[in-house]
Amino acid sequence: MLEPDNEGRAVSLDHLGIAVKSIAAALPLYTEGLGLEAAGEPEEVPSERVRLVMLPVGSTRLELLESTAADGPIARFIERFGEGIHHVAVAVDDLEAVAARLRGRGVRLVYDEIRVGAGGHRFIFVHPKSAGGVLLELVEARAGEANHGGG
Ligand code: ZN
Repeated sequence: MLEPDNEGRAVSLDHLGIAVKSIAAALPLYTEGLGLEAAGEPEEVPSERVRLVMLPVGSTRLELLESTAADGPIARFIERFGEGIHHVAVAVDDLEAVAARLRGRGVRLVYDEIRVGAGGHRFIFVHPKSAGGVLLELVEARAGEANHGGG
């Protein structure tokens, strides 16, 4: 149970991350097939060794992720599991507070520190071992920028 004096809570499903071998090959299903529109050109995040494109759908987004390195995290994921859902991203209103609370509860985070990704958005990942097998990305919601970011 969340204590009333605790700050920081989840506010929306920000996006689902989908690992694909090739954005170019995967994209037509979503654009031509489902009528979605990419939020921009594919964008590279060198620190994560991925290229990604965001597809807004309703109040949330799909994030197609393609590896830019043979040993990058997305390449390794596809090697192990094949293409598919890679992570679930939840927006929280106060990332520092949520991260501190999770650490206090002994939840395993993939990195110790909050990272900054595409478009300057801040995020952490909760390790699947602490989240029922789901890689859980927590991104900080920013007022008036519900559909901004990536990573
Ligand atoms: Zn993501």
